Amino acid sequence: MYSFFTSNNTYSKLTIRMDRQEARFWGLVKQAPEDLCWEWQGPLGGGGYGHIRYAGRTIGAHRASWEIAHGRKATRGLVIRHACDNRKCVRPSHLTLGTYAENVRDAFERGRIPPQGNRWKR
Ligand SMILES: [Zn+2]
Repeated sequence: MYSFFTSNNTYSKLTIRMDRQEARFWGLVKQAPEDLCWEWQGPLGGGGYGHIRYAGRTIGAHRASWEIAHGRKATRGLVIRHACDNRKCVRPSHLTLGTYAENVRDAFERGRIPPQGNRWKR
């Protein structure tokens, strides 16, 4: 059903357990046609990002989406970046794995952080 899911599937108990988690995950996603964002319908955590319990820990919904799509855990310390700037979006094709520094640079370039950074100075 999900054409992006191209991991090396095995029929282990783990895979079956993960499949159930994935079904629960996708049940909380509103999919959209063409290249529109797929918005998370589940609970939201800090910063307006969705969150879900997945693979034994509670993580961002966008991170869970990336992990499901790629069939592996996202490297600890790296962030899942939104190409679309929509925090509720969990569409795998809109998500890339990157560094925190890249994320900040993106925010700067897209005008989410004012050049002087005054917003962060109280
Ligand atoms: Zn999106």
